[in-house]
Amino acid sequence: MTNNKIDILIIEDSQTQAMHLQFILEELGYGAVAAQNGMQGLELLKKSFFPIVITDWIMPEMDGFEFCQTVRQQDFPGYVYLIILTAKDTKTDIIAGLEAGADDYLIKPVDKAELAARLNTAKRIIRLEHSLRKRNEEIALLSVTDPLTKIYNRRYLNEQLPTALAYSSRYNHPFSLMIADIDFFKSINDRYGHLTGDRVLESFARFLKRCIREGVDWMARYGGEEFVIVLPETNVSGAHSAAERYRNLIAETTLLTEPEPICITASFGVACVYPSGEGKQITPEALIESADQCLYRAKKEGRNRCFAILLG
Ligand code: GH3
Ligand code: MG
Ligand code: MG
Ligand code: MG
Repeated sequence: MTNNKIDILIIEDSQTQAMHLQFILEELGYGAVAAQNGMQGLELLKKSFFPIVITDWIMPEMDGFEFCQTVRQQDFPGYVYLIILTAKDTKTDIIAGLEAGADDYLIKPVDKAELAARLNTAKRIIRLEHSLRKRNEEIALLSVTDPLTKIYNRRYLNEQLPTALAYSSRYNHPFSLMIADIDFFKSINDRYGHLTGDRVLESFARFLKRCIREGVDWMARYGGEEFVIVLPETNVSGAHSAAERYRNLIAETTLLTEPEPICITASFGVACVYPSGEGKQITPEALIESADQCLYRAKKEGRNRCFAILLG
């Protein structure tokens, strides 16, 4: 993070002082945008985010104290580092300012060297916050990713399926779910070993992922060699023909696994709910259960096939 990448929001009702501060900040290599009171500052902050705000205390409409309190009660895309810059210089003022939510407190007139040092502290905190945020995002992603196939795991399915299903039923749209299960997978493990079995699972997941409609359908590893594909906005014939297409493609494809290429087939169970408008709600569990029953039938009738059911 370099200085010239950081824009600082100045909130100051005295135009002369605002221009002076803006000048110093620009000399220090920062960008600076000025607002005339807390209310205006808040609007600017909401419109385009500023990681650092330097605010005066006494201003019309909304003063610096109320501004700090308001910022701390709201959500922004990142942490807002708040510096109060004021002529109010008693201990009581400083304590009140910090308690209102300011991170730092400076007394006017501002000293350039001191400001530069305080802003370096601000940048350290902001950098720390960025790296924590990034790490948290990585952890959140890991917690919903299957480590072997790198697609979503069952936790993600459990979290997202109810929302996706509720959305479709609210708007009276069709919604389908399929379960794909590799046929005789146990014999692949038995014949080639567990590691090769893992490679087959990876290839199968990659293959399916390439098949599904990008940005609309999504998939998750449901169990060992079972994958769930969620197809919003898809009716039963659409979902059934998609499953048939995937099934055919898989049967025709040779997976380039080591030590030798392997051919597999898979069976599919599809369940679709088309809300009848009669208020009958199908639960995510019931949808999965119905798809599983279709899958069971596909297995029973010889594998490498798919069956679908319409609910609702
Ligand atoms: P079916 O055609 O009826 O589906 O038979 P199947 O052999 O595919 O199914 P079954 O449920 O009998 O066996 C699934 C096997 O998948 C058993 C289990 O050891 C294996 N398995 C589950 N998870 C993994 C994994 O992460 N890696 C590997 N290599 N094997 C796994
Ligand atoms: Mg003022
Ligand atoms: Mg299987
Ligand atoms: Mg299975």
